[in-house]
Amino acid sequence: MTTDSGTPRGRLVIVSGPSGAGKTTVLKRLYQRAAVPLVASVSATTRRPRPGEIDGVDYRFLSEEQFAEHRRQGEFLECFQVFGGGDWYGTLAEPVASSLRQGKWVLLEIDVQGAREVLKRYPDALTIFLHPSSLEELQRRLRGRRTDSEAAIQRRLEQARSELAQAHVYRYQVVNDEVDRAVAELCSILEKVETESHD
Ligand code: 5GP
Repeated sequence: MTTDSGTPRGRLVIVSGPSGAGKTTVLKRLYQRAAVPLVASVSATTRRPRPGEIDGVDYRFLSEEQFAEHRRQGEFLECFQVFGGGDWYGTLAEPVASSLRQGKWVLLEIDVQGAREVLKRYPDALTIFLHPSSLEELQRRLRGRRTDSEAAIQRRLEQARSELAQAHVYRYQVVNDEVDRAVAELCSILEKVETESHD
């Protein structure tokens, strides 16, 4: 499918899954291996950077005031307080629209409430839910991270249960039982969708 100017039309890809399901590792490899021009949407957040995280790459790290100003200006495609009353996370609309205009496939790694909101604006977005191999594995990974307090871990587990209960909203379900296998499955989903768009 092309735009009026002949540029191939980009696609929006939404990937959700509980925090600790190994999304970051899987997606890093997916960007390297995908056969379509896949780029990451860099979310804005008020959460503090974890060690090693880079501003503008992992997130745009904003102060509460900066985030609130973008909200006031209506610049977010979606934004939410992800862990019930905690930090804000959001997708700025313009960078996404600009990448789509360039024919890119833009991947949004966002939570379920954000995905529902984005689907209102982009109903044909491709939706993929990444499952942990089990809840026990999820707990093990969250605790192994050692950057979050026990209260934060409990909030993330509660959030994970609620997100898993809504996974059926997504078109594709992928289990991260083994990273390379999950990445290969994601690559073939993207290729299948790419082929469908030529039919
Ligand atoms: P983390 O703090 O571990 O990086 O991310 C926590 C959660 O926030 C993840 O489940 C992720 O999907 C979600 N998240 C990250 N960016 C956004 C965003 O821009 N919008 C929404 N709604 N959720 C996001």
